[in-house]
Amino acid sequence: MKKYLAVYCGSSKGTNPLYTQQAKALGQAMVKYNFHLVFGAGNVGLMGIIADEILRLGGEVVGVIPQHLVDMEVAHTGLTELIITDTMHERKAIMAERADGFIAMPGGIGTLEEIIEVMTWTQLGLHQKPIGFLNTNQFYSQLFNFFEHMMQEKFLKSHPIDQLICEADVEDLLKGFQSYNSVYTPKWLDK
Ligand code: AMP
Repeated sequence: MKKYLAVYCGSSKGTNPLYTQQAKALGQAMVKYNFHLVFGAGNVGLMGIIADEILRLGGEVVGVIPQHLVDMEVAHTGLTELIITDTMHERKAIMAERADGFIAMPGGIGTLEEIIEVMTWTQLGLHQKPIGFLNTNQFYSQLFNFFEHMMQEKFLKSHPIDQLICEADVEDLLKGFQSYNSVYTPKWLDK
């Protein structure tokens, strides 16, 4: 059965060439492990790099982009399927529906917003799909420290990392998705 992973990542490439290398490596590993891509359809930054790599290797790529970003993010014209939405919210809903799991690569606040949103949907019991972070160059380690702070201050019951697949190596990350068993943890409300 075809499996799709939504990959959220920067519309920029970042300073370190490692980010570009890892975007290509993740694309290669996705094709190897038979995962297709759902992404924000931009032909810029790491977004364009991973899409191009998967297409080059014969994988399928579904892009979802709101009309107002078609020019700004230079919508990729060579995708297997391009879905143009009216709003950002529609974009995220379609990406979440089409994906069997979610990965954040390094990126900016757009990337952060999208991955955190699907984490909150897990917490609310709206889906039980796996979520992972590609922690290239320790990019997300400071976020994980901030989650630790939330937990210590009793705004989080457990560290989200316990339910996430977080790896610096692309193959380890995708093996985590292949062997994932969902566990529903209800949101902790301190009444
Ligand atoms: P960035 O990580 O800021 O470079 O953004 C990466 C991608 O996230 C781009 O395709 C943005 O259009 C997208 N993005 C940014 N904010 C949002 C949002 N609120 N909802 C959906 N996508 C977003």
